[in-house]
Amino acid sequence: MAESSSLHVTAIIAAGGTGRRLGAAVPKQLLEIGGQPILRRSVEAFLFHPRVTEVIVALPASLADAPPAWLRPARVVSGGATRQASVANAFDAVSDRCQVVLVHDAARPFVSAGTISRTIDAAVAHGAAIAALPVSDTVKRVADGDEAAVIVETLPRERIYLAQTPQAFRRDVLGEAVALGRGGVEATDEAALAERAGHHVHIVNGEPSNVKITTAADLEAARLRSTPVERRMAGRIGVGYDLHRLVEGRPLVLGGVRVPADRGAHGHSDADVVCHAVTDAVLGAARAGDIGQHFPDSDPRWKDASSIALLRAAVEIVRESGWTVENVDVVVVLERPKLAPFRSAIEDQVARALGVTSGAVSLKAKTNEGVDAVGRGEAIAAHAVALLSRLPTAD
Ligand code: MG
Repeated sequence: MAESSSLHVTAIIAAGGTGRRLGAAVPKQLLEIGGQPILRRSVEAFLFHPRVTEVIVALPASLADAPPAWLRPARVVSGGATRQASVANAFDAVSDRCQVVLVHDAARPFVSAGTISRTIDAAVAHGAAIAALPVSDTVKRVADGDEAAVIVETLPRERIYLAQTPQAFRRDVLGEAVALGRGGVEATDEAALAERAGHHVHIVNGEPSNVKITTAADLEAARLRSTPVERRMAGRIGVGYDLHRLVEGRPLVLGGVRVPADRGAHGHSDADVVCHAVTDAVLGAARAGDIGQHFPDSDPRWKDASSIALLRAAVEIVRESGWTVENVDVVVVLERPKLAPFRSAIEDQVARALGVTSGAVSLKAKTNEGVDAVGRGEAIAAHAVALLSRLPTAD
């Protein structure tokens, strides 16, 4: 909330309903999305907004008597039998210095700071404004009563907007709207009352993400959206790199395929840079360590193991934590020989070790244009990326 500001802005959060439409045992405003109650998200959007001076929350009497600790920075009032009555109760508690009042549905926990700012600005400029969305579907009006399924009219959708909250009013404008409501006029939002009171209510851009959580399906969709990225993500990618010196009298093994060459890779076992880079990419994507950690030279189990076997073991390790390989792309950097004749054989071998079809592995070869040790033919390097996806689970 603003420490000091020339404009005093009060936000009223309408959370007075005891609606259990969502079928839960607790009031819907206390249901959690991503570990946080819906009400807390809605209230904090205003508490943390730099232009909002005070926040008043209208709660059902049962909650208002013992509000949760996270509501402490806000003021709490008891709501009424209807939303309109709740807003009226909260309006009575607004500070004397207040100039602009925002009214927001507790059931819209994803309101953005930008939408809040736009409605404040428009209320200052025009006296009353609401966030709203243009419709993209064609809008039909149907007949009354028994003929309710029959279209009477197709409305020009350019002139139709769907009202969201916040709705913002100069204090005197909302005062008139509240008085009309107390006089018996019923409306589903404060803008309708302000319209009835003769004020021009302006529209500012709302946001599609500013959804109202009304049904169980809304809640489910909101929970999915706010699931931490690593749980929601369909895939994860990893990168791997390896380099070995080239020496005479050693075989050149790439992806488990022996490539005829005048020099081979120096190093432990077969010194297969393709398998080593792919192994690190696969392990890295699952955040499962690296090749040196799982298959140390010092361990007799791996002493003479082929690098293809290490790759197969790495795939097992990531499978155990719930991941499967989707595809792998490899770049080998060496001056000679040309790898083109061996390319599909290498791709096939790597794919077999990964447990994927050969179409899921791609291998490219580059030279280093004579630059540095690789360019002088003294070393061979490989880069790899791997994409993993979640193994299907029983739930
Ligand atoms: Mg290596």
